[in-house]
Amino acid sequence: MSKKIVIVGGGIAGMGIANTLAEKMKNTEITVINKEDFYFAGPSRPLLLTKEQDYNRIIRGYEKVGEKGIKVTIGNVYKIDPDNRKVYISESTIGYRNEEIDYDYLVLTPGIVFDDSSITGFDKYWWKNTTVYDPGRVNVLKERLWTENEGTVLVYAPKAPYRCAPAPTETALLSHTVLAYRGVRSKFNIIHIDANDKTQPPFAADIVKQTYDKAGIQLVTGQEITEIGENYVVTKSGEKYNFTILALLEPNRAPKFIEEAGLGTPFVEIRSPQDLRHPKYDDILSAGDAAKLPFPKNQEIAFESSLFAANKILEMEGVSEKVPVQYAFVGWAYMGNLEGKLETLSLQFQMDLTSQPPKPSKDPQLKREYTLQKDKWEQAYLEKLFGYKYL
Ligand SMILES: Cc1cc2nc3c(=O)[nH]c(=O)nc-3n(C[C@H](O)[C@H](O)[C@H](O)COP(=O)(O)OP(=O)(O)OC[C@H]3O[C@@H](n4cnc5c(N)ncnc54)[C@H](O)[C@@H]3O)c2cc1C
Repeated sequence: MSKKIVIVGGGIAGMGIANTLAEKMKNTEITVINKEDFYFAGPSRPLLLTKEQDYNRIIRGYEKVGEKGIKVTIGNVYKIDPDNRKVYISESTIGYRNEEIDYDYLVLTPGIVFDDSSITGFDKYWWKNTTVYDPGRVNVLKERLWTENEGTVLVYAPKAPYRCAPAPTETALLSHTVLAYRGVRSKFNIIHIDANDKTQPPFAADIVKQTYDKAGIQLVTGQEITEIGENYVVTKSGEKYNFTILALLEPNRAPKFIEEAGLGTPFVEIRSPQDLRHPKYDDILSAGDAAKLPFPKNQEIAFESSLFAANKILEMEGVSEKVPVQYAFVGWAYMGNLEGKLETLSLQFQMDLTSQPPKPSKDPQLKREYTLQKDKWEQAYLEKLFGYKYL
């Protein structure tokens, strides 16, 4: 009888597993459940601020994936029942879906949600906040950066781990770039408040500090924001900072249905980075940002963990063939353009997580070429996972 594999979340990790299993395992029914009928890539979203990226290039639909025999069901998973092997999904915009789905293997790859519950005043002043993280909010941030004429841009990074370590730094430096381009930079302060002791990733913090000094960006580390008001934030130690434009990233966690099913909090428990099964259930695995991996939350790790998860399912099903994979990545952080040209330079860094302690390295020279390489890398992922190029 064919095995039913249900994957919750059709992003980087979910599609990594779906594509791998569709290729390597015959006689399998693979269903990916995603809450939207499209996927928005994350890495280059910050470049929407400087108009160097365009939404069209980073959205993909799932139809080409369907051609491979992978079923994609659009719906929001709100509950799972691990003891009875059931997933519950609610209605979506695409047709009526209000059903329960059975599985033989369940793979949890829903990424993260933003949790503002530790921030007083967020309920009332949520509309003041923007980030580069969401399609809507990044557009609001862009609108504010291109129309406000004076004030303070306040950027905030919560305690790690959160999705994409350098994204808050990218936000501060791209804000500098836009304001410098518009000729209003001298009328703005830019403050980056970081809940961590260093900007993330820590091995790039020295370059970030040097670049911030040149750009006149103020950096405050080791301070957690606990309250927001109409035009100010307050940190745990009681310091108050005013803002005109706020780009605050809320702490990250896996969606609530995971905690409610007893599978982990704030992320899904796993046995190890190589064995991504839940410690209690052989038939539940997790990968990507939702999993409690001891690594940064980024696209490379999401993809690599998805291959480890796929390999484990292949092994459990007696398929001897495996896909080659190890934990290591090259990454690029957008560092803006100090002179205010809308041509972003980037920092390139890499990390080999196969050795203990992990070995990070970086090129201290910021280069335009790295920004272009990051674009190629992101487009290649989208083509590989969603089956087509943007024309
Ligand atoms: C602004 C930004 C910048 C980034 N920059 C970089 C970078 O420079 N380099 C890098 O390597 N990584 C970067 N990342 C991180 C990278 O995008 C993520 O680490 C990666 O996408 C994680 O993959 P994932 O599969 O775990 O989650 P995702 O790719 O987010 O996929 C999760 C999917 O699950 C779906 N989903 C969620 N909940 C449910 C539910 N309840 N029911 C059904 N479906 C659900 C979502 O709609 C989504 O399609 C960035 C991310 C952002 C947002």
